[in-house]
Amino acid sequence: MRTRFAPSPTGFMHIGNLRTAIFEYVLAKKYQGDFILRIEDTDQARKVEGAVEFIYKTLELCGFQIDEGPLNPQKYGPYIQSERLDLYKKYALELVEKGKAYYCFCTEEELENMRQKCALRNKPFAYDGRCSKLSAEKIQENLAKGIPYVIRQKMPKTGYTVVNDVIYGEIKIDNSILDDQILLKSDGFPTYNFANVIDDHLMAITHVIRGKEYLDQTAKYNLLYEAFEWEKPTYIHVAMVLGEDGTKLSKRNGDASFMDLYEEGYLPEAIVNYLSLLGWSPANNVEVFSLAELIANFDEKRISKSSSQYDVKKLQWFNHQYIQKMSDEEYLTWVKKYFTHDCEKPAEWVDKLLLIYKKQLEYGAQINDLTREFLEEKYEPNAECLEFMKSDPIIPQVVACFKEEIANIDWTVTNLNQAINNVKEKVGVKGKLLYMPIRIATSGIMHGPELADTIYLIGEDKVKERLNK
Ligand code: GLU
Repeated sequence: MRTRFAPSPTGFMHIGNLRTAIFEYVLAKKYQGDFILRIEDTDQARKVEGAVEFIYKTLELCGFQIDEGPLNPQKYGPYIQSERLDLYKKYALELVEKGKAYYCFCTEEELENMRQKCALRNKPFAYDGRCSKLSAEKIQENLAKGIPYVIRQKMPKTGYTVVNDVIYGEIKIDNSILDDQILLKSDGFPTYNFANVIDDHLMAITHVIRGKEYLDQTAKYNLLYEAFEWEKPTYIHVAMVLGEDGTKLSKRNGDASFMDLYEEGYLPEAIVNYLSLLGWSPANNVEVFSLAELIANFDEKRISKSSSQYDVKKLQWFNHQYIQKMSDEEYLTWVKKYFTHDCEKPAEWVDKLLLIYKKQLEYGAQINDLTREFLEEKYEPNAECLEFMKSDPIIPQVVACFKEEIANIDWTVTNLNQAINNVKEKVGVKGKLLYMPIRIATSGIMHGPELADTIYLIGEDKVKERLNK
């Protein structure tokens, strides 16, 4: 089993690309196979500076070990397409020899004419095949003159081509709709449609996982494999991941990229876990699992045929679960990377503050919003709080009793918890009627983290002063 992740460095890897990489990685690892990284940079015009580094960083942070790739080349290298141009040319010429491809010397003007003719008939552009009829002498003459050329694949005009896909089954494509596509461009670069076949074969890729948008194209790839008499890989086409607004994700539009999420304090493990469930589900229905568990339970046959939708709320839920799994020490080291408030309190106090929000935190940078009110030390119960305080005659008793209970205690969380418990016993209230009056009276807000922890951190003097108010 050899799978490959073959991103084009045309922007910052969005989560849909990463989802494909996850499937490729876990499939290879499930069968103790190899995971190969190949950079598909044949479209030089769309290349984006820095995109390759982003790809490496993303895969590394996700914990994927790349068995072969540009940074650790093995015998199948180079792993960057722009470094393989000689190979594509060699194979394109071999196809010409076999009569499965031909030189095309058409000028931009001729092609434009063809385009217009197709448009008049309301048809998508298809090359009319005129250069496939050139005589051997004419071809030699043109080549000798140095006329620029492309190499086109010669498609059968009748019959159909079968594509077998693990998810979508057997698909028959009518050959008459297949265009004599370009394999090698006049600048010597291959098209994606050609390079992917050459590379998948030469790199001994056994399983190709890629977006469903390539499914129809696969007939053309199969014809190439057949022309070379090469064994085809197993195809696994996966349905799209749509953005939050239900439209196609795009690197260029800056849709959620792994690195953006990482920088906001989403944990790679949580991201991988969540993304693996976009368009796939394990037989045991377990939702939270490690990469190792995902590898063990991955079943490519359970990949869904329909597209899935990215939902940041759901990702936050997963991230929250992973935050809870951290030890307090790990959590503090991690969350401090995101905590940007200028705060003059002692370090120990800050640690306590960060810790009391652990149970609520959904992503790292959220810590700033959660702790803002606390740090501003405002005490301004809003109208809703004030209304609640007047909603039951027992509430003033709760507050008065709490005030008495804490009058002479040592200021510790345990004692504060004890005090709250005493109020419960003495006044005979529980739940909302117990906690909310104490919370509002001490902190001025209706909801927050653990009550005793909160009161402890506000501090004895301030709490007493507020209770008097
Ligand atoms: N370079 C292609 C892309 O980024 C890869 C498609 C494939 O995996 O074959 O969409």
